[in-house]
Amino acid sequence: MKIGVLSIQGGVREHINHVKALGADAVEIKKLEDLQGIDGLILPGGESTAIGKILRERNLLNPLKEKIILGLPVWGTCAGMILLAKEIDSEDITHLSVMDIKVRRNAYGRQIDSFETEAAIEGITQEPIPLVFIRAPYIVGVGDKVKILHKLNGNIVAAVQDNILVTSFHPELTKDLKFHKYFLELCNKPNISCTNIC
Ligand code: GLN
Repeated sequence: MKIGVLSIQGGVREHINHVKALGADAVEIKKLEDLQGIDGLILPGGESTAIGKILRERNLLNPLKEKIILGLPVWGTCAGMILLAKEIDSEDITHLSVMDIKVRRNAYGRQIDSFETEAAIEGITQEPIPLVFIRAPYIVGVGDKVKILHKLNGNIVAAVQDNILVTSFHPELTKDLKFHKYFLELCNKPNISCTNIC
């Protein structure tokens, strides 16, 4: 299995290392041609407005959006979640607009804009795993097709909709591999395989 990691900002190397540690291949995605033959795509964190701008400049935004709509499994961490959302609170612009969620950027405010906690996540790990939040968004609204995976203090911080996974936090910045394992399982599901379209 080959996973692409969008290489614009954020923990690109860390995501690649985690995927490789689980025995899959991982490659950097910088341009359109790099998307050939991938079985899944990770959108790391960073600054979503800047990443969205670069995706447009590199003519990657629409091809990526099409592949996701056709079933390419994708996981957005933090800024990646914002890129995937159909709605961004208090903003007119959206980017890939493929997931029925409304997100609030920098939702934890400036004072505590970065923090770490631990939690068990149903369906992914019974043991608590570290959750790292860096100027993180959370989800303030979901559509019917969205399955909520985790709430922190009542706010949604992890969710999945068909082939689209999002987390407010950064599993790539911890030693734990369970979220990456969960994503690789999502990429393996035959019903959303993109073998014929990628
Ligand atoms: N605050 C960033 C944004 O709004 C996201 C932060 C992150 O990805 N760590 O795009």
